Amino acid sequence: MKRVSIIVPCYNEHETIEIYYNEVIKYLDNSYDFRVIFVNDGSKDDSLNIMKALATKDERIYYVSFSRNFGKEAAMYAGIEAAKKMDSDAAIIMDVDLQDPPYLIPELLKEYENGYNLIYTKQKDRNGAKKSTTFFALVFYKVYSFFTKDKELANGARDYSLLDRKVIDAFLMIKDSDRFTKGIYHYVGFNKKCIEFEYEKRVAGETKWGFRKLLEYAFLGIKEFSDFYLIIPKIFGLILTVLLGYDIGRQIYNAVTIGTYDAFNWTPIRIDAVGLVITILIYYLLKLLYDIRAQVRHRPVYIEDESNIK
Ligand code: UDP
Ligand code: MG
Repeated sequence: MKRVSIIVPCYNEHETIEIYYNEVIKYLDNSYDFRVIFVNDGSKDDSLNIMKALATKDERIYYVSFSRNFGKEAAMYAGIEAAKKMDSDAAIIMDVDLQDPPYLIPELLKEYENGYNLIYTKQKDRNGAKKSTTFFALVFYKVYSFFTKDKELANGARDYSLLDRKVIDAFLMIKDSDRFTKGIYHYVGFNKKCIEFEYEKRVAGETKWGFRKLLEYAFLGIKEFSDFYLIIPKIFGLILTVLLGYDIGRQIYNAVTIGTYDAFNWTPIRIDAVGLVITILIYYLLKLLYDIRAQVRHRPVYIEDESNIK
């Protein structure tokens, strides 16, 4: 029987863990060897004790508890690592607040059996979500796809997803310490399927993501999967080139209309040219830093899908 581990990051979720448990077990039938791995991301409330109590009464329940809050990305990584340790054939990542509806689990598994390696989910719309969050999410996805050239990540995409064994292995090969799972999904490739569902409200408790944390996370996603900072010297370079052209033209025009070489003023041209040279230097310095980043974070040179070499 195939083993499927469900990974559930939790941070101060004492209000939701039991509600989640009672809901998710309805979908854990005997067709798979199901396990639920709660990742306690340094909760300061009773979350860990609730996990321990569930693990005592139900042998399918496991937990991993952090020494402090490391963030949801770290919790997802730890969960996938635990799923691999348990020799799982597939892993499902989902939130504990029922915003990732468990009723999709059979559908995720159906697409897994159809041969998809990675099945991810997306909210059809955000009816019921905060208007401001909806707006900023839309802006984020536009900016993100512009800079990263990732056309797969659509507005409303969730972390709720199923990874088969190949994707589990590939996911763990990406050791980035600043992690952005949705970007990693695009990066690793493989056969993917997107499932859409209706927006669900958090069942209890409060969101753990303030506006500032969301903004930082959005920027992290962009900078980790693009050469974002190069945009700055590119824009300055463009402005300075236009200015240089304009100043040269203006000085030639002066000299010609007045008719003396003395009317030709080198000063603005020199300023533009020096600025442009500095900007170009900064551009190449930044490019060099990007090359160094690429080396130090050791992303795999390639990720194998299949081969007949034993
Ligand atoms: N979470 C976590 N660590 C954090 C913040 C959140 O493990 O530092 C978990 C949280 O317990 C929940 C999931 O990540 O299961 C999504 O968080 P939340 O519902 O607060 O985010 P939102 O749905 O509002 O984006
Ligand atoms: Mg939520």
